[in-house]
Amino acid sequence: MDQREGWIWFDGEFKPWKDAKIHVLTHGLHYASSVFEGERAYGGEIFKSREHTERLIRSGKTLDFTIPWSVEQIEEAKREVLAKNNLVDAYVRPVAWRGSEELSVPARNNTVHLAIAAWVWPSYFSVEEKLKGIRLEWSKWKRPSPETIPSSAKAAGLYMICTLSKDAAMANGYADALMLDYRGYVAEATGANVFFIKGRDITTPTPDCFLNGITRQTLIDLAKRNGFTVTERHMMPEELSQFDECFLTGTAAEVTPVSEIGDYKFTPADGCRTLIDAYSAEVQPKRAAAE
Ligand code: PMP
Repeated sequence: MDQREGWIWFDGEFKPWKDAKIHVLTHGLHYASSVFEGERAYGGEIFKSREHTERLIRSGKTLDFTIPWSVEQIEEAKREVLAKNNLVDAYVRPVAWRGSEELSVPARNNTVHLAIAAWVWPSYFSVEEKLKGIRLEWSKWKRPSPETIPSSAKAAGLYMICTLSKDAAMANGYADALMLDYRGYVAEATGANVFFIKGRDITTPTPDCFLNGITRQTLIDLAKRNGFTVTERHMMPEELSQFDECFLTGTAAEVTPVSEIGDYKFTPADGCRTLIDAYSAEVQPKRAAAE
């Protein structure tokens, strides 16, 4: 990943991709004082760009640091990153972290840095291929209580158990893992939220100890506009047998149907298809319509 050609926006200037480096004694590396975003540009425009930038700044505040750039400056920087790298359909990764002035647990005197990279990360599958669904394994790790860790932030520290869960699932031949929370309720996958469909009713776990994804919020709105009812509530894993379809949502995952979670089987069908189509239409730039 570090050996590509291209340009990375780094603290206000462009650095060649291979030179965008930090010191090994960076606080963010040792103590996870780091927050990031995952965004997608479609047709040259980042979908819900401002929401992502606002979440980035909010995540930093949750970790008790201020990113030294405004929403407008970050918006402009993201546009510049796409232009400088000639990208139209791309994944965009802003990351902010505490620097290397001091290395011990307290970090208030360390500079906060911001970098923004972007690269091509297509949705590889056709709708037909997607509708086969992916297989998920139950993770042995539980999403922690919001009293244990600030779980509404998109912060590096929250991803340690995601990596452990996803690597274990992939080693066992699954595409991803589904995590329960500290109470035993169904929570989310390692980088995406989860939804269940029965007829025209959609149920999704209440995001009270995991990320309330921007795609999740978009999907809830789209589902309602497409005639589904949407219920957010705590869900026990045993309940999953009553649902016909299941799908994940996330910036990278978009809408990804699921065929299996442990012993529970789902058959992606009209519900998933309707929502995949609605999401694809929604993410397209609205320039033409606005003109
Ligand atoms: N949960 C986790 C753990 C994630 O990493 C992501 C991806 N950012 C999501 C949910 C979905 O969030 P979004 O729809 O904002 O990409």
